[in-house]
Amino acid sequence: MKMPIYSRPIQENTWSAFLLSQDCPLRVVVSAGPAPYPHRPPRPRCRSIGTFDRFYKTPHPRYNDGGFLKANFGGFIPLSTVDWRGRAVCTVFLRGCPVRCRYCQNAALQEGLDERGIAEILAMIRDSTLLATGVVFSGGEATMQKDALLALARGAKEMGLGVGLQTNGVFPETIRALLAERLVDKISLDIKTRWSHYRNLFTVDYADRVKTSLALCTEAHKTGVLPEFEVVVTVFRGCEDDVPYIAKETGGVDLVLQQGIVRGVSPLTFGELAGIADRIRRTVKIRTREDGEATYEGRRIMRAESIDMSGIERDQSI
Ligand code: SF4
Repeated sequence: MKMPIYSRPIQENTWSAFLLSQDCPLRVVVSAGPAPYPHRPPRPRCRSIGTFDRFYKTPHPRYNDGGFLKANFGGFIPLSTVDWRGRAVCTVFLRGCPVRCRYCQNAALQEGLDERGIAEILAMIRDSTLLATGVVFSGGEATMQKDALLALARGAKEMGLGVGLQTNGVFPETIRALLAERLVDKISLDIKTRWSHYRNLFTVDYADRVKTSLALCTEAHKTGVLPEFEVVVTVFRGCEDDVPYIAKETGGVDLVLQQGIVRGVSPLTFGELAGIADRIRRTVKIRTREDGEATYEGRRIMRAESIDMSGIERDQSI
């Protein structure tokens, strides 16, 4: 049995209806044709997957920039459920990052060149809109490519998608521009260490730039311009004391404690990260490779998907 999941206009005079086969969600059938009435979709006519390709792999004229604006492309995940918790999204990786974290999980994206037209990347995003309701820009450091990122975010917004950004905050002007146009719905800002340690960890002291990004996002979140904002702290064994400092510097912003993984140092366990959260008396999200992500509030896990509780002291009053 096939069931329609939604329909929407994709061009001025054209409607599409998406039909999903119940036994295989990937068997997508597209029906499209000129709308006889401007506000009424035509009766669906099933066509082959080839029609889907023709419609969705051809750049929309509106996004066609004539090929002038390009992005240094790093990769694309058509469907992700971990990059924006609670949402199915696609993820675009943009290449290049001036910060050289020793623990970088995407070190291959720190440099290199793979130029792609904005229209080509928007076509990839559009191909995901059958299941994804948002797009997350990551890297590398996506904000390093200001014009490209703005163009991509505008295109995603025109498709009706939520826009998320994972950033290290070293390009506050890009964040300012995104917020000014209300092009972003969620920002995850990395704060790597205490402000005074930035100059020791990296060849350039980025602390002031990250502080500016933090101030911009905090203000935008307070005023409702930025609906979701979180600060991500990657915590390594031996650097646990940075967390109370960063918690204080970020005020009431949502905090994510992410397990730091680097060769030669045993990673903190979920229980140890929970112990740090207890010290700062804040609700935090804890993210570990073994257990995924959970929201943790003072010895009570509020929402978790696969957490092993054995390492955590249970509060008997709960
Ligand atoms: S800021 Fe992010 S992308 Fe850049 S080197 Fe560090 S971890 Fe990698």
